[in-house]
Amino acid sequence: MKATLAAPSSLTSLPYRTNSSFGSKSSLLFRSPSSSSSVSMTTTRGNVAVAAAATSTEALRKGIAEFYNETSGLWEEIWGDHMHHGFYDPDSSVQLSDSGHKEAQIRMIEESLRFAGVTDEEEEKKIKKVVDVGCGIGGSSRYLASKFGAECIGITLSPVQAKRANDLAAAQSLAHKASFQVADALDQPFEDGKFDLVWSMESGEHMPDKAKFVKELVRVAAPGGRIIIVTWCHRNLSAGEEALQPWEQNILDKICKTFYLPAWCSTDDYVNLLQSHSLQDIKCADWSENVAPFWPAVIRTALTWKGLVSLLRSGMKSIKGALTMPLMIEGYKKGVIKFGIITCQKPL
Ligand code: SAH
Repeated sequence: MKATLAAPSSLTSLPYRTNSSFGSKSSLLFRSPSSSSSVSMTTTRGNVAVAAAATSTEALRKGIAEFYNETSGLWEEIWGDHMHHGFYDPDSSVQLSDSGHKEAQIRMIEESLRFAGVTDEEEEKKIKKVVDVGCGIGGSSRYLASKFGAECIGITLSPVQAKRANDLAAAQSLAHKASFQVADALDQPFEDGKFDLVWSMESGEHMPDKAKFVKELVRVAAPGGRIIIVTWCHRNLSAGEEALQPWEQNILDKICKTFYLPAWCSTDDYVNLLQSHSLQDIKCADWSENVAPFWPAVIRTALTWKGLVSLLRSGMKSIKGALTMPLMIEGYKKGVIKFGIITCQKPL
């Protein structure tokens, strides 16, 4: 998630974040701006476009790193080490205490594992190596390392996050099991087939090339390994619909600016990408109702004295993030934002 008190991830004037500069939905999803097929375009104009796209991707990476460098401390101070939504019963109208929300974040991890079929000791024992793609400050990795006794490696674009994640692992005597480094999810520094569990908790929404993202997740998964993607999506398009409505796109564009997100895709898009890799047991679900209490709770913490002071101390990126939070709630309420889980297994 984008970590300001404001939220998991989001804007106003980042030139690379607009649809026009990043390209159409389909080009973002299914063709990398820097892929060889793009580069093979020979016209002068084409090459200029490719160079611009590559610069935009680099600018996005830099923006994400700076965003999390600046905002992670604030998030940790108020919300702890899990930078993702909580999972709640859909009808829960109770005002949960702080600890209730933290439990809901742990529940998100547990529900995700359950959904993916990691439901008993037999399945748990198979998980010996985990990659945490977009690891934040390592909350999931340390939890999974403790739960499974697995070796977890987390990657993030933010050097501040990687350092904090390693420090927390050391402080919790987990350094031998959980380690963290700066690396790009689209070009992971791991050999093929290394991990029994490929875990991406609220990082997919940052990926400018969803096809390349999925390809990397599949590449590093071991035969028989599971892939779990929990991510912000836009609603599925209906048959015959080419794009979201302009008012819907407008909401997403604003969120993108603040949280450093490229174009969004739907859970259907993820399922299609996974199908193209012949994976097994591909499943998805819409958990939007289960996360509904989260953003109102984040806003409530931002409006406390401690929240406001921390926010002001943290800087402009955090403040912009906080101001964008109501748009997340609006997006969910209007049905354009969906909180999706997509899981599958690599064949043996
Ligand atoms: N999964 C974590 C953090 C989610 S915040 C948790 O649940 O606590 C999103 C994370 O994705 C950040 O750590 C950010 O650095 C990371 N991220 C975004 N784009 C990335 C990329 N291209 N490569 C690696 N990490 C990326």
